[in-house]
Amino acid sequence: MNRVSPLNLINIGLGLLLWVVIIFAGCRVADAAPYMGDCKLAARTHTVSIDPVLGIEVVNALNTWNDAFIAEYGFPVFAVHYGEWQEADVLITAHGDTQTWVNTRCKSNYVQRGNNLAVVHIGPELNPRWLTHEIGHVLGFADYIFPTTDPRGFDGYDICQPASAPISIMSYCWQQNPVVLLPDDYALIRNYWPH
Ligand SMILES: [Zn+2]
Repeated sequence: MNRVSPLNLINIGLGLLLWVVIIFAGCRVADAAPYMGDCKLAARTHTVSIDPVLGIEVVNALNTWNDAFIAEYGFPVFAVHYGEWQEADVLITAHGDTQTWVNTRCKSNYVQRGNNLAVVHIGPELNPRWLTHEIGHVLGFADYIFPTTDPRGFDGYDICQPASAPISIMSYCWQQNPVVLLPDDYALIRNYWPH
């Protein structure tokens, strides 16, 4: 009669554990995508209402994305809206927030007001890079995070791959500070709307 030795049991246990880790890791990667699903904007120009207390940096950040969308699709994805803020597709506002962040219709705590599909809240210091990053979320781009990072709390996520980590304004794996968009951002935009 065969008997299972304690050593064999340990081996079997470790084997099972390895499979659990592999399957779990596989699920996490499978869940990830560079776009935030339903949060992608439609293929048209979206109006943006800008809080009058904010400066030209906001227009510059919108135009950073516009330049790329004009190059790829022939029209700007954003246009400044000068009427009532409720009529705009996007609202960028500065009203005492402690940090710069974005709320969108993809989040469970989003209360839509008027036509606003997303609201960017500006913190006490307007950092052009973070503003450009948050506008990326308005478009529907997800954060890039390390495989070991807990994805909870991120605005959607994709995994930075060791061999091909995107050098993107949306990436937490690459912490240099350009405000310009780079080839990996242009690759995201190129695949944004099928054409
Ligand atoms: Zn983000």
